Amino acid sequence: MNLERFLLELEQNNPEEPEFIQGVREFLISVSDRIKDDFRLSNAGILERLTEPDRVFVFKIPWLNDQGKVMVNRGYRVQYNNALGPYKGGLRFHPALTLGTVKMLAFEQVFKNSLTSLALGGAMGGANFNPTGKSEAEIMRFCQSFVLQLWDLLGADMDIPGGDVGVGSREVGYLFGMYKKLTRQHNAAFTGKAPDWGGTALRAESTGYGVMYFLKALMDDNNDTLEGKTICVSGFGNVAYGVVRKAVELGAKVVTLSGPDGFIHDPEGISDDKLDYLIELRATSQDLVRPYSIEFPGVAYYEGQKPWGIACDIAIPCAIQNEIGMKEAKLLIENKCKYLVEAADKPCIADASEFLVANGVKLAPSKAANAGGVAVSTLELAQNTMKINWTNDEVNTRLKDIMERIYQLCKIHGAKPDGSINLSDGANIASFHRVAEAMIDQGAV
Ligand code: GLU
Repeated sequence: MNLERFLLELEQNNPEEPEFIQGVREFLISVSDRIKDDFRLSNAGILERLTEPDRVFVFKIPWLNDQGKVMVNRGYRVQYNNALGPYKGGLRFHPALTLGTVKMLAFEQVFKNSLTSLALGGAMGGANFNPTGKSEAEIMRFCQSFVLQLWDLLGADMDIPGGDVGVGSREVGYLFGMYKKLTRQHNAAFTGKAPDWGGTALRAESTGYGVMYFLKALMDDNNDTLEGKTICVSGFGNVAYGVVRKAVELGAKVVTLSGPDGFIHDPEGISDDKLDYLIELRATSQDLVRPYSIEFPGVAYYEGQKPWGIACDIAIPCAIQNEIGMKEAKLLIENKCKYLVEAADKPCIADASEFLVANGVKLAPSKAANAGGVAVSTLELAQNTMKINWTNDEVNTRLKDIMERIYQLCKIHGAKPDGSINLSDGANIASFHRVAEAMIDQGAV
């Protein structure tokens, strides 16, 4: 098959979805060497089937604001592939969310979930809704209206949404509440629930902790240590929180965080007590990080900027896709950054990733490094099904095991003939094989 021709056709069939096309392109190029002569794959139409989601739902979400006016947003759920298990993936509430982004994230989720070795298909959804500045009541009414459009497509063995950007345990609570009312079932149709009524220990920290376990495995393998290393982090949601907490525990120093307003640089490092302040800040500040620089002496605030010009050994973008382009990649290289771990989904633009790797940076791709979140979601499902709760330690041990196994998979499948290792290729190849084999086993469906 001619890959360029295939991608061109895909683009023609999916106009105005550049992020989806780009995501598929990067993935297929990365696995192309390993699949090009495989007759079984071409005979089973695996590429054709994997570049078309199983189904896509786009729907209207009318909701009443506090002034009594009806507002309208657009909702999405892309059920991408369920060869390995029920559809599973987050919901994102973000004003710039488009169908192309949701499809790209759903495609990524299929392979991320495959890497966990758990029984999970892939999906993604959300709405172009901006939670910033909305009252508690508005958030609740919005979530209820969202579920009214989707509830009959969800279920513990069918499609199980979880959180993502803009959707945490509060939103999952409102979504689940309406789902439960409509179905009369208290089942595992959502993850990311509050720990007291069906959630799991460590779900909030899990993505960030998983990121750090992956990084630690990578550094151990390179006879390196986190002890004393300087880390730049972007974002300050759940992912960044988990990363900072675990980084501090493992002896590293995190010096930056960012919000939509800009970033803060704390040369002393963000300690545990400062993290407590961060939690408070998140609850009250509508996403702004600036107050942190006022609260603590010696902290600089850079309005409207990203932290990638600050010298660091390790960069961990935790905010959103495409925040590291060539300009940022060059700054990181100039500043001698050695590791970049993608904690957000696809924060590096393709040419920036290539440039970083070509310049010796060890790059941990998001579908592997941030799989701890969805993995712990699955531990939540397992506990729901068994009607028991595991302790922090039990969840943590399982999470650590899963992340170490994912690292090994990436390493084994990413090994190049010259002895180097490309973790992104490893993640793509390992995850692709598992999904493709399952599809072949299950026939042309
Ligand atoms: N959005 C998170 C992820 O991509 C969590 C998904 C989930 O728990 O379903 O991993």
